[in-house]
Amino acid sequence: MSDRRDDGVVLVIDDDRTNIQVIIEILKPVGLTVISARNGEMGIKRALFVLPDLILLDVMMPGLDGFETCRLLKSEPATQGIPVIFITALNDEENKVKGFDVGGVDYITKPFGQREVLARVKTHLSLKRKQDLLERLAEIDGLTEIPNRRQFDRILEKEWRRSQRSQTPLTLIMIDIDYFKNFNDSYGHTSGDDCLRVVAQTLASSVQRAADFVARYGGEEFAVILPETTLDSATAIAEQLRENVASLQLAHVSSQVADYVTLSLGVATFIPNDETSANNLVEMADRALYRAKRKGRNQVRSATDPDE
Ligand code: GH3
Ligand code: MG
Ligand code: MG
Repeated sequence: MSDRRDDGVVLVIDDDRTNIQVIIEILKPVGLTVISARNGEMGIKRALFVLPDLILLDVMMPGLDGFETCRLLKSEPATQGIPVIFITALNDEENKVKGFDVGGVDYITKPFGQREVLARVKTHLSLKRKQDLLERLAEIDGLTEIPNRRQFDRILEKEWRRSQRSQTPLTLIMIDIDYFKNFNDSYGHTSGDDCLRVVAQTLASSVQRAADFVARYGGEEFAVILPETTLDSATAIAEQLRENVASLQLAHVSSQVADYVTLSLGVATFIPNDETSANNLVEMADRALYRAKRKGRNQVRSATDPDE
């Protein structure tokens, strides 16, 4: 993450093989990996496949020109965050402004100086790294260091759409620590914070598959998203989460249900259709969670359990 490191992948899109070669000779010696494409269509394909850190884009090319290529890159979620620098013989103001209008971050005119190209590339790679870091930090909960509510909302929408396409079940588990207000009152807010950290890390390390996702939903509430998971296996996973936190045996003298920290969990599973939304899944899991609370806490309830 240091600015002194020059590693990164740069995609050069240019119909002129010599230009590509010149840029490779400028960027390779500082440790950058350079890949290339000879026209806009191929460039977009390579960008989608490789997700480079930066794109150097020629303007005048047969087929898709550079401006149109840039527009397409910026309209595609996967590539829209990749900075694009135009590198072109067109050096009138009109074209330079157009380059920025279509989403470019910089504009280099040919013939270019090698050191100028290197300086601009380094600057934009460094800015991109900082921006990526900020975006990651914005989605991590500062206290527990697991994903926050904002990332939860984004991942839930994404998994909802994925499940809708594949018509596979999507599970949500809502989790709430029992009598946590009492915990703070007995041990102090700082110990409460420590407890939240340990519970969060335990939940995060309890899920198995790469797509399983654990977030801090808010306060002393956590949420787990399990794609392609049926209600039966999700209920078993929720039970495992409950046991893993219980077995930490974190002392809780003022809990009404045990003498250690316990969880209540609500499970809901949907195969998304046109009449339902991700919010419905949250509501269902929430309702199951409150049923777990009503039934005595320290337990798992699912949305399809009989009501009373
Ligand atoms: P229940 O068993 O019904 O869930 O009772 P509860 O006391 O856990 O629920 P309630 O919603 O009344 O209280 C939640 C408590 O969680 C109150 C709040 O002070 C505490 N809390 C929320 N966020 C934090 C935090 O970041 N740090 C600490 N230490 N406490 C927090
Ligand atoms: Mg709560
Ligand atoms: Mg609680």
